Amino acid sequence: MARIGVYVCHCGTNIAATVDVAAVRDFAAALPGVVVARDYQYMCSDPGQDLIRKDIAEMGLDRVVVASCSPRMHEPTFRRALESAGLNGYLLEMANIREHVSWVTTDVPAATRKAKALVAGAVRRVALHQPLEERYADVTPQALVVGGGIAGIEAALKIADGGFRVHLVEKEPSIGGQMAKLDKTFPTLDCSACILTPKMVAVAQHPNIVLHTYSEVERVDGFVGNFRVTIRHKARSVDMQKCTGCGTCWSKCPYTAPNEFDEGLGKRKLIYIPFPQAVPNKPVIDRERCVKFQSGKCGACQKLCPTGAIDFNQQDELVEENFGAIIVATGYSLFDPGRGPWGYGRYPNVLTALQFERMVNASGPTGGHVQLQDGSTPRAVAILHCIGSRDTNYHEYCSNVCCMYSLKLAHLVKEKTGAEVYNFYIDIRAFGKAYEEFYNRVQNEGVYFIRGKGAEVGSRDGRLVVRCEDTLLGKYREIPVDMVILSPAMEPRPDAARISQVFGIQRSADGFFLEAHAKLEPLKTATDGVFIAGACQGPKDIPYSVAQGAGAAAEVLRLLSAGRVTISPVVAQVADEICSGCRACLPICPYHALTYDEGVKVVLVNEALCKGCGTCVAACPSGALSVSHFRTPQVLAQIEEVLAV
Ligand code: FAD
Ligand code: SF4
Ligand code: SF4
Repeated sequence: MARIGVYVCHCGTNIAATVDVAAVRDFAAALPGVVVARDYQYMCSDPGQDLIRKDIAEMGLDRVVVASCSPRMHEPTFRRALESAGLNGYLLEMANIREHVSWVTTDVPAATRKAKALVAGAVRRVALHQPLEERYADVTPQALVVGGGIAGIEAALKIADGGFRVHLVEKEPSIGGQMAKLDKTFPTLDCSACILTPKMVAVAQHPNIVLHTYSEVERVDGFVGNFRVTIRHKARSVDMQKCTGCGTCWSKCPYTAPNEFDEGLGKRKLIYIPFPQAVPNKPVIDRERCVKFQSGKCGACQKLCPTGAIDFNQQDELVEENFGAIIVATGYSLFDPGRGPWGYGRYPNVLTALQFERMVNASGPTGGHVQLQDGSTPRAVAILHCIGSRDTNYHEYCSNVCCMYSLKLAHLVKEKTGAEVYNFYIDIRAFGKAYEEFYNRVQNEGVYFIRGKGAEVGSRDGRLVVRCEDTLLGKYREIPVDMVILSPAMEPRPDAARISQVFGIQRSADGFFLEAHAKLEPLKTATDGVFIAGACQGPKDIPYSVAQGAGAAAEVLRLLSAGRVTISPVVAQVADEICSGCRACLPICPYHALTYDEGVKVVLVNEALCKGCGTCVAACPSGALSVSHFRTPQVLAQIEEVLAV
């Protein structure tokens, strides 16, 4: 007969205010196999854990039930307590009487009754627990970072400085991300390129960083510590070894296309580097438009390249590498304001904030001159906050940074043109360090603030008109201006669904990547060894993205320097003699942990990938699958006892 100790936690008043803990304790004490039952204010505290350790030593307990919070919070804590007293950590069962009981009702008798039922179920179940042993796997000592924006750059540099090799994969021809397009950065008004380019150069020169630009991750196999990743190097049509970046090709290319880096405001050649400080500073051919690719004519760049670097026959290349850990830092896209009533795409002097960032930048399409389509300087400019954000027609969430960059743009318009500036806002969210002070500064510069969302942009007498309801004055207003700058929502990138599948990352309702725990595990994901950083997780500014990049790097360094990973023993098991080889379980496993062995004609479990979720167990028509620690007799006994109370 098992010797079970039951420990009922008050969790301060979290549990004790709703559950009669003394009654639950006395009830537990009378259950079969229970040798001791106690209640305590905070079981997770040191004195609380000492109670358990002492009873194991003095009363010879061989099973423990803790009735407290969710096992997600404290199962590791209590497992360690058992282990430090010499008991296998898997001889523990937790009854969640906080999230499942005291937090969901105020009815004390009902809560106490349910707590008793859960404790009774846990006692029956723990008696059937078996000791389980954790196992370990070696870790490949190099990391992968996907996305070369500021978050990915920071992560790669920190890992590389920590002494590990890191591969940085960037989809575009250059690293830098959205920050590379910005002119100044709030609230300090540092020049964005001045603070970003030293980091980009450091990436290019770091002996521990392997840079894959114009590349994408195609496939990820394996598990924490041992990922096998296939990377596609898209054909640049330029041999990177031969190219010296002299610029002959792009200066001589006779054709142009809209410049994506300038958000379509300027032109670029069909062989081009995206921006002057690009890393690597070597060109790429736009095959979709290049005349040579489209009609076989031209080829000027190839004729003129002094090093013979142009290669029209270059093919995409697939490379495979092993990694111990992965950071996904793929950033954000911007909401398309052409979907709404703000005149974008209809009136040439309606710009997005990012277009304005390019216009105001000295290396941008107008050389930094703020000007209207006809080249004249605007006399009045409207900046419309929350375009697509905080709007149930589009995105309910707040995009976090638009208030601050709208203030920055207001300052830049004033500084460059002296124009009247109107900011149309719902609330000003100046939440960060020195942000409120920046808001005050911009107000003192004479910028007008109209509390009311810019509802519509029209035109009258050759000028633009912004219509809104001024909620402070309580009246409808129309403000004539010459230029409108829209501050669009930050959105998940269009390929977020594919990326989430490739890396096994879940997404939240807003489409951004989902962290393992909103407060306590903001950088981890549902897949061990895969971390997220920056705006791919949700809208955020540069300091926050940098902090997340560095934080994710710390997670990776922790994994790589440990040299081995623990593999949970709570995994699926196949009874070979029962498995019929029907393979119904294979497509159902969300972690791709099952394979079919053609030789022995049964299913195999990759224990490093299996999360013990039990989905396959439910799918198996033969009853060949089970999950250790959650075997059918254990679960049925628990249910039976819960229902009996
Ligand atoms: P990104 O900058 O989006 O970088 C992501 C990178 O990943 C990109 O290089 C992208 O090409 C790459 N990528 C995407 N998908 C893949 C893939 N599948 N494979 C490989 N690579 C991929 N913040 C401030 O703090 N101060 C400011 O003044 C400021 N001004 C702003 C002004 C505007 C108009 C906007 C829109 C934003 C502004 N921000 C500002 C916010 C700032 O842009 C973000 O905080 C920052 O860019 C987030 O960095 P990131 O690395 O997470 O994402
Ligand atoms: Fe590179 Fe040749 Fe172009 Fe010069 S001309 S930048 S060497 S591809
Ligand atoms: Fe074997 Fe069951 Fe999977 Fe069919 S579903 S292959 S019987 S384990």
